[in-house]
Amino acid sequence: MSTPLYLAPRLESRLESLLDRPDFLHQLTRALGSPLNIVLPDQIAENVQRFQDVYDRHRLSGTVYFAHKANRSSALVRRLADTAAHIDIASIGELQHALGCGFAPERIMATGPKSSEFLWLAARTGVIVNADSTGELEQLAAIVTKHQLPRVRVLLRLCDFESSGVTVMSRRSRFGTPVAEVPRLLDAMETHRDCVELIGLAYHLDTIGLAEKATALDGCLKVMADCSARGLRPRAIDIGGGFGVDYLADGNQWDEYTSELTNAVLGKRPPLTWRGHGYGLRSEQGTLRGALGLYPAHRPVAGPRYLDELLTSQAPSLGRPLATQLLENLYDLHIEPGRALVDQCGIALARVLEVRDTSGGDCFVRLEMNASDVSLEEHGVLMDPVLVPRPGDDDQAASGPVGAYLIGNLCLEADFITRRLVHFPRRPRVGDLLAFVNTAGYFMDFSADHALHQPIARKVAVYRDGAEWRWCLDENYWPNICTGEDS
Ligand SMILES: *Cc1c(COP(=O)(O)O)cnc(C)c1O
Repeated sequence: MSTPLYLAPRLESRLESLLDRPDFLHQLTRALGSPLNIVLPDQIAENVQRFQDVYDRHRLSGTVYFAHKANRSSALVRRLADTAAHIDIASIGELQHALGCGFAPERIMATGPKSSEFLWLAARTGVIVNADSTGELEQLAAIVTKHQLPRVRVLLRLCDFESSGVTVMSRRSRFGTPVAEVPRLLDAMETHRDCVELIGLAYHLDTIGLAEKATALDGCLKVMADCSARGLRPRAIDIGGGFGVDYLADGNQWDEYTSELTNAVLGKRPPLTWRGHGYGLRSEQGTLRGALGLYPAHRPVAGPRYLDELLTSQAPSLGRPLATQLLENLYDLHIEPGRALVDQCGIALARVLEVRDTSGGDCFVRLEMNASDVSLEEHGVLMDPVLVPRPGDDDQAASGPVGAYLIGNLCLEADFITRRLVHFPRRPRVGDLLAFVNTAGYFMDFSADHALHQPIARKVAVYRDGAEWRWCLDENYWPNICTGEDS
């Protein structure tokens, strides 16, 4: 085999110490089956603090709202309720879940497009409504009037910000009100003043582009001034989520992998993917075409550091750093991190069912899980699973490195956990576990389903108690009972 191309995941101490306990992980999968999802509630509390440190550094006030949709876990949400963070919910089910996990209504914000039931429950309980459109605002006002509810606090979600330069292309969004239509939106706000109180402006852009986000924040600052000219007094700007995660331990591995992938697409080396899949790249008569459609798995500037860079960057049209603009206007800054707030908060475990060599020279590792149980491929994130050896297995007899394709438990040709050849330091064996680490954000439970009546993963919460790791079912985790390391 040619030199193995590893994409080792970035592991912080908590995850690393958990992976150091193969006996514990095997015990859990023996008892609860494969696949199995593990969440680490104490990590989310630490992640909140890291975002708060950025606020402190810029002397800004405001709130961290966890975008619930990144993970369905109860344990993570209950642990979060015990921190200073608030929560962003995007469905009536998430709203009910957040209330039941200990979030009082004043710590909840409803985002996304909403049904009439969703708006009623939001208004009835008194959560903040992040309004998507003029129509939604009017619908909310009608509900408040009809049911004689107290005034609802709202943020107005904007989109399609106009950039002053030519360098930043702002992509169109399905969500929010285009900035060009703000006057009509503010008219509606004034008309319904008795029912809704404008407390802020918002945006959420599903992009990693810092310039695009700086343009949006700059745009919100300008609309804040329009509001005040009308006698409206919004106090906060909510810049949404999308801070990203750094998935890989070593940037060199990423650079090497992507350049070898390019070589493979050009036929200059053996394929690195099943049937030569190019992740968006292709060769036309020896010329590289297309664009790499992958998440940039190595992102040193992600999460809190990304927020820091955004705040430090210049306001594109207003000038001076964005943090200074916020501070001088005494505006609160709200953020809605999803993926970044559950960084290092979870693992998906799968048992190895079979290791098979084909006559074509490929090695297949079949797992007791399928592609929807850990949708890394769907999100374009490439990172290696960690091999968790069966306890008592004699590692001395281990083979050298091998490259293998990871296939799932559906009888579908397409059921590859990843279409990429994955390199292991030794050949996996039946009964080993593969740990897909850092999968709490969208991968472990967003798409999981019951195709072929296969079970979806159970979820457990784990926490350190002195030198020991303890666990309970996700639904049985409560912060006062499951006393973690810092309780
Ligand atoms: C999905 C979503 C988020 C979270 O995005 P991440 O990329 O996970 O940080 C935040 N706000 C809104 C409105 C969303 O739809």
